[in-house]
Amino acid sequence: MHLQHQYDGLIIGSGAAGLTLALRLPQDVRIAVLAKGPVKEGNTYYAQGGISAVLDHKDSIESHITDTMNAGVGLCDPRVVRFAVEHGPEAVQWLIDLGVPFTRRDEEKHQTEFHLTREGGHQHRRVIHAADSTGKALQTSLVDAVRARDNIDLFEQHIAVDLITAERPGSRDNCCLGAYVLDRGTGRVEVFRARFTTLATGGASKVYLYTSNPDTSTGDGIAMAWRAGCRVANMEFNQFHPTCLYHPQAKSFLISEAVRGEGGKLLLPNGKPFMQRFDPRAELAPRDIVARAIDHEMKRHGYDHVLLDISHKPVDFIEKHFPTIYRRCLELGFDMAEQAIPVVPAAHYTCGGVPTDLSGRSDIDNLYVVGESACTGLHGANRMASNSLLECLVFATSAATDIAARLATTGMPGELPEWDESQVTDSDEEVVVSHNWDELRRFMWDYVGIVRSNKRLERALHRVELLRQEIQDYYGNFRVTNDLLELRNLVQVAELIIRSAHIRKESRGLHYTLDYPQADDSQVASDTILEPQKTDQGNVQPATITGVEKLGVADN
Ligand SMILES: Cc1cc2nc3c(=O)[nH]c(=O)nc-3n(C[C@H](O)[C@H](O)[C@H](O)COP(=O)(O)OP(=O)(O)OC[C@H]3O[C@@H](n4cnc5c(N)ncnc54)[C@H](O)[C@@H]3O)c2cc1C
Repeated sequence: MHLQHQYDGLIIGSGAAGLTLALRLPQDVRIAVLAKGPVKEGNTYYAQGGISAVLDHKDSIESHITDTMNAGVGLCDPRVVRFAVEHGPEAVQWLIDLGVPFTRRDEEKHQTEFHLTREGGHQHRRVIHAADSTGKALQTSLVDAVRARDNIDLFEQHIAVDLITAERPGSRDNCCLGAYVLDRGTGRVEVFRARFTTLATGGASKVYLYTSNPDTSTGDGIAMAWRAGCRVANMEFNQFHPTCLYHPQAKSFLISEAVRGEGGKLLLPNGKPFMQRFDPRAELAPRDIVARAIDHEMKRHGYDHVLLDISHKPVDFIEKHFPTIYRRCLELGFDMAEQAIPVVPAAHYTCGGVPTDLSGRSDIDNLYVVGESACTGLHGANRMASNSLLECLVFATSAATDIAARLATTGMPGELPEWDESQVTDSDEEVVVSHNWDELRRFMWDYVGIVRSNKRLERALHRVELLRQEIQDYYGNFRVTNDLLELRNLVQVAELIIRSAHIRKESRGLHYTLDYPQADDSQVASDTILEPQKTDQGNVQPATITGVEKLGVADN
């Protein structure tokens, strides 16, 4: 028998959500934080714009609430939106106190006030940022603070495989006891026992061929929670960013919307402009319209990319306004001042996830979910820019308060069953994993991407069912590896996205289908909620319920 790790709190994920939770818990609480790769790798590090909060006296809580609700097109939970917005200023102040180097209003005049930008959907300037690399500054500060804490152990290169749950004696309530975790260094699966477990594993945009997200975004937490018995909600709402650089070495390099804002034109590969045909605002139309127009043209002509051209601007203008983008493009052989650059839309943000209450509690006792993996009700059918980091900070903080209050009355689980490897061998054909990985991401892009239809979704569902069976067999016979675990989770999340998209018989927010191109306003908009049901073979199958009430607020 191996030594089993034992902690008060197990936090799976080391982004803004996971690290905020770790730092907000009392300093006498023993905490393990897992990162499946290096501690900094995750969506948080790549965030560019900033964090939204009401920080200017001309702005107001009501205005931030209204903007968020408008963006979410009828599916935001008003109580959750108010909670997040009201707690925003305190969350940002905590980061300032932590030393995050946010950009000041006027560096030369040594102003103490912070510079705020305005982004799409916001009526006011309310986005605090650290130049154009807010995520890097945030993640670095959080990691430094965590490393300085004696009560927090960081486990890099440790990927959680599955949650360990049990029914409470005398009750049918499911309770989380910890997780099985693969140490990628030793190849051994270890047991982590904990009074409280939190999933802070980020989004699932890697399910698509093109994404702005790093490789970590494989929806692991959503898939683990689902397998353990949690519902998932609103998985059809994936946000696509219109322009990522199309280049094999720059698979997730975002080209900011500001390039279009400053006069960049979108062109077909033959040099013809096309945006005017889709919207009178052309390149300045909202993000989802631009992404849809590019997708339409690419699918119609079979192009693998379109072009973005700002070469009519002087080189010093481009260098001054877009230093990072200009430099990166030059490194890859494109001089933006001389030529148009190839771009594709890319999956950017997962609005759906595991439903939680205001304290981050999930359907399973002692299991919390925070950050992009959660579906709190803040974003509804479309996330407003810079509200996601806000969500990470606010709900990680309320989860910390809730966990701290429950620690004294929650016992440590006893010894748990070891991971059983007696029936498996090393894989004989790694190609199965890499082939299925590519196939999945390609058909998700083609059939379940920016523009959907019943026919496309049915095709995708058929394929994903075959893949799931194949991966399940593979998983049952061979020793687990990082790639296999991620693929297993991606396939699961893909199925949840397809099924959710299939259920929504309307176009709303980020979900657009050719069969129902309008929003169905004949009834009150409702969330898409899938509920897992165990089959006789022990597999988990979705049963669908829509419009289910949100979970109640925790009493403490
Ligand atoms: C290019 C880009 C720009 C963005 N810009 C902004 C912005 O300006 N403002 C804004 O509000 N939002 C922005 N976002 C979105 C925002 O960055 C994310 O929503 C947010 O950072 C998510 O934080 P998180 O802590 O939930 O997850 P992440 O930061 O993605 O962290 C996930 C963590 O989970 C770990 N993990 C995952 N699976 C496992 C597993 N099985 N076992 C162990 N560990 C695991 C990973 O290793 C990682 O540590 C942007 C996103 C991208 C990609």
